[in-house]
Amino acid sequence: MKYFIYPFVFFVFLSGIYPSDHGYYMYKFEIDKNDNISLHTSNHVDSKLKTSKIQKHIHNSILYKIKNNESDIIFEGEIDNPRIIHFEDFIGSVPSKTKVVLENSFFVVKVPNFSDIDKIEFYKSDKHDLVFEKLSEIKLTNNINNSTREIFPVTDIMVNGSNDARVNIVFLGDGYKQNQMDQYISDVEEVTDDLFNTIPYSNYMNYFNVYAVEVPSEDSGTDHPGTAPDCGGYNDNVFYADTYFDSSFDLYNIHRLLYIQDQSAAFDVLADNVPDWDIIFVMVNTTMYGGAGGTFAVFSRHASSSEIAIHEIGHSFAGLADEYWAGFNYAGEYANMTANNNPETIVWNSWLYDNGVGIYSHNYPGNEWYKPHQNCKMQFLGPPFCSVCVEHTIKSVYDILEPINSYYPENLEVVASASELVYFGIEPILNFPNTLSINWFIDNQLIAEDVEDIELETYMYSLGEHEVKVIIEDFTDLVRNDSSNLLKSEFVWNLIIECNTSPDLNNDNQINIQDVIILVNHILDFSSEIECIDLNEDGLTNVLDVIFIINRILD
Ligand SMILES: [Zn+2]
Ligand SMILES: [Zn+2]
Repeated sequence: MKYFIYPFVFFVFLSGIYPSDHGYYMYKFEIDKNDNISLHTSNHVDSKLKTSKIQKHIHNSILYKIKNNESDIIFEGEIDNPRIIHFEDFIGSVPSKTKVVLENSFFVVKVPNFSDIDKIEFYKSDKHDLVFEKLSEIKLTNNINNSTREIFPVTDIMVNGSNDARVNIVFLGDGYKQNQMDQYISDVEEVTDDLFNTIPYSNYMNYFNVYAVEVPSEDSGTDHPGTAPDCGGYNDNVFYADTYFDSSFDLYNIHRLLYIQDQSAAFDVLADNVPDWDIIFVMVNTTMYGGAGGTFAVFSRHASSSEIAIHEIGHSFAGLADEYWAGFNYAGEYANMTANNNPETIVWNSWLYDNGVGIYSHNYPGNEWYKPHQNCKMQFLGPPFCSVCVEHTIKSVYDILEPINSYYPENLEVVASASELVYFGIEPILNFPNTLSINWFIDNQLIAEDVEDIELETYMYSLGEHEVKVIIEDFTDLVRNDSSNLLKSEFVWNLIIECNTSPDLNNDNQINIQDVIILVNHILDFSSEIECIDLNEDGLTNVLDVIFIINRILD
């Protein structure tokens, strides 16, 4: 009985989700104008932590190393400098970009639940990531708690599966009063629809969830103090609003720089309501053009807000460069920007001369830097992403996700007897059109193609260990260059086939004369159905096993 896996058990398990791996901790830090870092709060999140498979290159980054009691590094990562935000202006005749350094800022580090965690060390890199200066060393405790938890309604805008197995986009709204929440939700839906009508997000929609946290503000709108020297025609259009995240225009003397000033509150709302966020959008309830990208992508309800949001996610999620010349501050080696113009070795070589992809120099004075296209969404609002940007976006999805909702058995070590049916299965996350192939292998021999589950009859295999492997690979023609094999994932189970020790040899839930007959036939070598029977587990199949089974029947 205990060795037989019934099909209905199988399906129950398939609808489950990944084990949580005991969750992770989320630490909120403040960084001041002298780059001093202090710990504010920590929260435990009962969800699987997504980690990147490939090392990313981030300019002006902050590195962190988590150490244990023995001072060994047990976890490390890199984040964008949380004091730096970027303001992009697409309204002028040519797009422009400005970097602003905030006086102070907040940021969150997500750390797996280690039992021997001791401290976190922060390092700041120079522009070329060559020199790292130690900023702070902070003792970590898992007991600081945010006592003022605020729970708000969270609207499911698009939920395709467990947050563990999706890229989670979370919207916060600022300057929406309680009675404007319908407007807020419809604004969020509009941006979401536009994003998922854009290639490649449309093809990989199933890989994302979208949530909107309904945080009401006292007043409608935002602040425009009219204090920036470039307020221009908006000089007289001054307004103030008491909003939850304290968003404002005119920050750092730039009229269109709209950002939230209370980032700490934003992180608290996220921690208490959707802690497993991956991408944060803040939508400010004003139609005046403005926004900025940093830890939070902030934008207004201006007519081009969807396009700005989609361009911004190209930076924050996919790590793409602008394809307009944004200045030497922003020049570097990216998937869609390079100083190497050799057609043989250029990073987008596999796309060269297809779909308008070429080697185009940036405008003077950036003409020694090159971009793949002349009309990409990373250059202008409106056009689609170029093939190179599409490819890199898909790879960014696979960098943190496997295309799998769930797998069965959840225990990767499977022990079965020599006469059992054993089931293995995965539930894939399908893209549109579906380009996933699913192949099953036993001991590296292909046994099934393009099926989500298999059943194995163990008597067909020898006693001992076998490797059951499923390889899921996305053969989309939107990706040509995948040298790190991000689009290929595999799951491996270790199947151990043991001698039969269950006296119910015919699996009919009864131990009776039928089982004795099977055993005796086996001993006399009349039956090949069961490879191995050893009921008393003495390493032999003989009359002692017959006595064992008869004693069980007489019990
Ligand atoms: Zn940009
Ligand atoms: Zn592009």
